[in-house]
Amino acid sequence: MTLTVTELRVRYGGVTAVDGLSLTVEPGQCVALLGANGAGKTSTLRGIGGLEPSTGGIQLGGKRLDGTPASRRARAGLGHVLENRHVFKSLTVAENLKVAAGRASEPSPVDPLGLLPELRDLLHRKAGGLSGGQQQMLAIARAVAGAPQAIMLDEPTNGLAPKLVDRTVGILADLRDAGFAILLVEQRLEVAQQLDADVVVLRHGRAERRLRGTDPELPDVLHTAYLS
Ligand code: ATP
Repeated sequence: MTLTVTELRVRYGGVTAVDGLSLTVEPGQCVALLGANGAGKTSTLRGIGGLEPSTGGIQLGGKRLDGTPASRRARAGLGHVLENRHVFKSLTVAENLKVAAGRASEPSPVDPLGLLPELRDLLHRKAGGLSGGQQQMLAIARAVAGAPQAIMLDEPTNGLAPKLVDRTVGILADLRDAGFAILLVEQRLEVAQQLDADVVVLRHGRAERRLRGTDPELPDVLHTAYLS
Protein backbone atom coordinates (compact mmCIF):
# COMPACT_ATOMS: atom_id res chain seq x y z
CA MET A 1 0.00 0.00 0.00
CA THR A 2 1.15 3.50 -0.75
CA LEU A 3 1.82 5.90 2.13
CA THR A 4 0.90 9.45 1.16
CA VAL A 5 1.73 12.43 3.36
CA THR A 6 0.48 15.87 2.38
CA GLU A 7 1.51 19.18 3.94
CA LEU A 8 2.46 17.63 7.26
CA ARG A 9 3.04 20.09 10.09
CA VAL A 10 4.26 19.25 13.58
CA ARG A 11 4.63 21.99 16.19
CA TYR A 12 5.90 21.94 19.75
CA GLY A 13 4.53 25.10 21.31
CA GLY A 14 6.17 27.88 19.33
CA VAL A 15 8.65 25.58 17.53
CA THR A 16 7.67 24.36 14.07
CA ALA A 17 9.53 21.06 13.66
CA VAL A 18 7.87 19.93 10.40
CA ASP A 19 6.71 22.67 8.10
CA GLY A 20 4.45 21.47 5.31
CA LEU A 21 6.24 18.28 4.21
CA SER A 22 4.70 16.15 1.47
CA LEU A 23 5.98 12.76 0.41
CA THR A 24 4.85 9.45 -1.05
CA VAL A 25 6.26 6.00 -0.37
CA GLU A 26 5.19 3.24 -2.74
CA PRO A 27 5.25 -0.48 -1.97
CA GLY A 28 8.75 -1.76 -2.71
CA GLN A 29 10.25 1.72 -2.37
CA CYS A 30 12.62 3.06 0.28
CA VAL A 31 12.48 6.78 1.03
CA ALA A 32 15.23 8.10 3.31
CA LEU A 33 14.92 11.34 5.28
CA LEU A 34 18.35 12.87 5.78
CA GLY A 35 19.30 16.15 7.39
CA ALA A 36 21.12 17.80 10.25
CA ASN A 37 20.22 17.41 13.91
CA GLY A 38 16.97 19.22 14.54
CA ALA A 39 15.91 19.21 10.87
CA GLY A 40 12.66 17.50 11.81
CA LYS A 41 13.31 13.89 10.82
CA THR A 42 12.11 12.21 14.01
CA SER A 43 9.17 14.62 14.30
CA THR A 44 8.09 13.65 10.78
CA LEU A 45 7.91 9.96 11.71
CA ARG A 46 6.23 10.71 15.04
CA GLY A 47 3.67 12.95 13.33
CA ILE A 48 2.87 10.32 10.72
CA GLY A 49 2.69 7.63 13.40
CA GLY A 50 0.30 9.67 15.55
CA LEU A 51 2.76 10.03 18.43
CA GLU A 52 2.75 13.83 18.11
CA PRO A 53 -0.22 16.00 17.11
CA SER A 54 0.05 17.15 13.49
CA THR A 55 -1.92 18.77 10.72
CA GLY A 56 -1.99 17.69 7.08
CA GLY A 57 -3.07 14.56 5.30
CA ILE A 58 -1.84 11.02 5.96
CA GLN A 59 -3.18 8.14 3.89
CA LEU A 60 -2.23 4.49 3.70
CA GLY A 61 -3.64 2.58 0.75
CA GLY A 62 -6.09 5.42 0.21
CA LYS A 63 -7.42 5.19 3.78
CA ARG A 64 -7.22 8.38 5.84
CA LEU A 65 -5.16 8.08 9.00
CA ASP A 66 -4.77 11.73 9.99
CA GLY A 67 -6.75 12.57 13.09
CA THR A 68 -6.75 8.93 14.28
CA PRO A 69 -4.89 7.60 17.34
CA ALA A 70 -1.53 5.87 16.94
CA SER A 71 -3.02 2.46 17.75
CA ARG A 72 -5.48 2.79 14.85
CA ARG A 73 -2.67 3.73 12.47
CA ALA A 74 -0.69 0.68 13.58
CA ARG A 75 -3.67 -1.62 13.03
CA ALA A 76 -4.23 -0.04 9.61
CA GLY A 77 -0.76 -1.25 8.62
CA LEU A 78 1.67 1.45 9.69
CA GLY A 79 4.69 -0.10 11.42
CA HIS A 80 7.01 2.13 13.42
CA VAL A 81 10.47 1.21 14.69
CA LEU A 82 11.18 3.99 17.15
CA GLU A 83 14.50 5.63 17.87
CA ASN A 84 16.51 3.73 20.51
CA ARG A 85 14.76 0.42 19.95
CA HIS A 86 11.75 0.27 22.20
CA VAL A 87 11.40 -3.40 22.99
CA PHE A 88 9.71 -4.84 26.07
CA LYS A 89 12.83 -5.51 28.10
CA SER A 90 11.25 -7.74 30.73
CA LEU A 91 9.69 -10.04 28.11
CA THR A 92 11.49 -12.70 26.09
CA VAL A 93 12.10 -12.33 22.38
CA ALA A 94 9.28 -14.80 21.67
CA GLU A 95 6.91 -12.88 23.96
CA ASN A 96 7.81 -9.56 22.29
CA LEU A 97 6.91 -11.04 18.90
CA LYS A 98 3.72 -12.60 20.25
CA VAL A 99 2.51 -9.29 21.70
CA ALA A 100 3.12 -7.54 18.37
CA ALA A 101 1.35 -10.27 16.39
CA GLY A 102 -1.56 -10.20 18.84
CA ARG A 103 -2.12 -6.51 18.22
CA ALA A 104 -2.22 -6.92 14.44
CA SER A 105 -5.53 -7.03 12.64
CA GLU A 106 -4.31 -9.95 10.50
CA PRO A 107 -1.36 -12.36 10.40
CA SER A 108 1.84 -10.94 8.93
CA PRO A 109 2.45 -12.08 5.34
CA VAL A 110 6.18 -12.14 6.13
CA ASP A 111 7.58 -14.38 8.88
CA PRO A 112 9.74 -12.13 11.09
CA LEU A 113 12.01 -15.06 11.95
CA GLY A 114 12.46 -15.88 8.27
CA LEU A 115 13.63 -12.33 7.74
CA LEU A 116 15.76 -12.28 10.90
CA PRO A 117 16.89 -15.87 11.51
CA GLU A 118 19.51 -14.67 13.98
CA LEU A 119 16.67 -14.22 16.49
CA ARG A 120 15.78 -17.94 16.45
CA ASP A 121 18.48 -18.85 18.97
CA LEU A 122 17.44 -15.97 21.21
CA LEU A 123 13.71 -16.68 21.45
CA HIS A 124 13.78 -17.53 25.15
CA ARG A 125 16.14 -14.76 26.20
CA LYS A 126 14.83 -11.63 27.93
CA ALA A 127 14.98 -8.68 25.54
CA GLY A 128 16.64 -6.52 28.20
CA GLY A 129 19.63 -8.88 28.27
CA LEU A 130 20.32 -8.67 24.53
CA SER A 131 23.05 -6.57 22.95
CA GLY A 132 22.12 -3.27 21.31
CA GLY A 133 22.36 -4.86 17.87
CA GLN A 134 20.16 -7.79 18.88
CA GLN A 135 17.58 -5.42 20.36
CA GLN A 136 17.56 -3.48 17.09
CA MET A 137 16.90 -6.70 15.16
CA LEU A 138 14.09 -7.52 17.59
CA ALA A 139 12.59 -4.05 17.17
CA ILE A 140 12.47 -4.60 13.40
CA ALA A 141 11.08 -8.14 13.78
CA ARG A 142 8.41 -6.83 16.12
CA ALA A 143 7.31 -4.23 13.57
CA VAL A 144 7.10 -6.96 10.91
CA ALA A 145 5.10 -9.23 13.25
CA GLY A 146 2.51 -6.45 13.44
CA ALA A 147 1.58 -7.13 9.78
CA PRO A 148 2.43 -3.68 8.43
CA GLN A 149 2.13 -2.41 4.88
CA ALA A 150 4.48 0.49 5.46
CA ILE A 151 7.35 0.54 7.97
CA MET A 152 8.95 3.68 9.40
CA LEU A 153 12.36 3.26 11.01
CA ASP A 154 14.13 5.96 13.02
CA GLU A 155 17.92 5.65 12.77
CA PRO A 156 18.01 1.84 12.86
CA THR A 157 21.82 1.81 12.51
CA ASN A 158 22.44 4.22 15.37
CA GLY A 159 25.20 2.96 17.64
CA LEU A 160 25.74 -0.28 15.72
CA ALA A 161 29.13 -1.78 14.85
CA PRO A 162 30.00 -1.67 11.12
CA LYS A 163 29.15 -5.35 10.57
CA LEU A 164 25.69 -4.83 12.05
CA VAL A 165 25.18 -1.68 9.98
CA ASP A 166 25.76 -3.84 6.88
CA ARG A 167 23.36 -6.48 8.20
CA THR A 168 20.72 -3.79 8.83
CA VAL A 169 21.12 -2.50 5.27
CA GLY A 170 20.57 -6.09 4.06
CA ILE A 171 17.41 -6.40 6.17
CA LEU A 172 16.07 -3.07 4.89
CA ALA A 173 16.71 -4.20 1.31
CA ASP A 174 14.88 -7.47 2.02
CA LEU A 175 11.92 -5.57 3.51
CA ARG A 176 11.77 -3.28 0.50
CA ASP A 177 12.04 -6.20 -1.90
CA ALA A 178 9.26 -8.00 -0.01
CA GLY A 179 7.01 -5.10 -1.05
CA PHE A 180 6.86 -3.00 2.09
CA ALA A 181 6.86 0.77 1.73
CA ILE A 182 9.91 1.86 3.77
CA LEU A 183 10.32 5.33 5.28
CA LEU A 184 13.72 5.59 6.87
CA VAL A 185 15.39 8.26 8.99
CA GLU A 186 19.15 8.00 8.80
CA GLN A 187 22.26 9.87 9.81
CA ARG A 188 24.52 7.64 7.74
CA LEU A 189 24.76 8.71 4.16
CA GLU A 190 26.15 5.33 3.11
CA VAL A 191 22.96 3.54 4.16
CA ALA A 192 20.88 5.66 1.76
CA GLN A 193 23.54 5.14 -0.90
CA GLN A 194 23.72 1.37 -0.51
CA LEU A 195 19.92 1.09 -0.65
CA ASP A 196 19.75 3.56 -3.55
CA ALA A 197 16.90 5.09 -1.58
CA ASP A 198 14.89 8.07 -2.75
CA VAL A 199 16.39 10.72 -0.51
CA VAL A 200 14.54 13.71 0.91
CA VAL A 201 16.96 16.22 2.42
CA LEU A 202 15.18 17.99 5.26
CA ARG A 203 16.07 21.43 6.50
CA HIS A 204 14.01 23.37 9.01
CA GLY A 205 11.18 20.85 8.55
CA ARG A 206 10.98 21.33 4.80
CA ALA A 207 12.11 19.23 1.86
CA GLU A 208 15.17 21.09 0.66
CA ARG A 209 16.10 18.60 -2.08
CA ARG A 210 14.91 15.27 -3.41
CA LEU A 211 17.43 13.02 -5.13
CA ARG A 212 18.56 9.41 -5.43
CA GLY A 213 20.87 7.88 -2.87
CA THR A 214 23.35 7.11 -5.65
CA ASP A 215 23.33 10.68 -7.02
CA PRO A 216 26.97 11.86 -6.93
CA GLU A 217 25.70 15.27 -5.78
CA LEU A 218 24.25 13.87 -2.54
CA PRO A 219 27.32 14.29 -0.28
CA ASP A 220 27.67 17.95 -1.31
CA VAL A 221 23.96 18.63 -0.92
CA LEU A 222 24.04 17.18 2.59
CA HIS A 223 27.20 19.01 3.48
CA THR A 224 25.54 22.31 2.53
CA ALA A 225 22.31 21.41 4.37
CA TYR A 226 24.23 20.45 7.52
CA LEU A 227 26.25 23.62 7.56
CA SER A 228 23.55 26.14 6.78
P1 ATP B 1 17.93 14.51 15.51
O1 ATP B 1 18.76 13.90 14.44
O2 ATP B 1 18.73 15.34 16.48
O3 ATP B 1 17.01 13.55 16.20
P2 ATP B 1 15.72 15.47 13.91
O4 ATP B 1 16.00 15.85 12.52
O5 ATP B 1 15.13 14.13 14.14
O6 ATP B 1 17.04 15.62 14.78
P3 ATP B 1 13.60 16.49 15.52
O7 ATP B 1 14.02 15.64 16.70
O8 ATP B 1 12.40 16.09 14.79
O9 ATP B 1 14.81 16.60 14.51
O10 ATP B 1 13.48 17.99 16.04
C1 ATP B 1 13.03 19.06 15.20
C2 ATP B 1 12.85 20.32 16.04
O11 ATP B 1 11.83 20.14 17.00
C3 ATP B 1 14.10 20.72 16.82
O12 ATP B 1 14.16 22.13 16.83
C4 ATP B 1 13.83 20.18 18.21
O13 ATP B 1 14.51 20.93 19.17
C5 ATP B 1 12.34 20.34 18.31
N1 ATP B 1 11.73 19.32 19.18
C6 ATP B 1 11.78 17.98 19.00
N2 ATP B 1 11.09 17.34 19.95
C7 ATP B 1 10.58 18.30 20.76
C8 ATP B 1 9.77 18.28 21.94
N3 ATP B 1 9.31 17.12 22.46
N4 ATP B 1 9.45 19.47 22.50
C9 ATP B 1 9.88 20.63 21.96
N5 ATP B 1 10.64 20.72 20.87
C10 ATP B 1 11.00 19.58 20.28
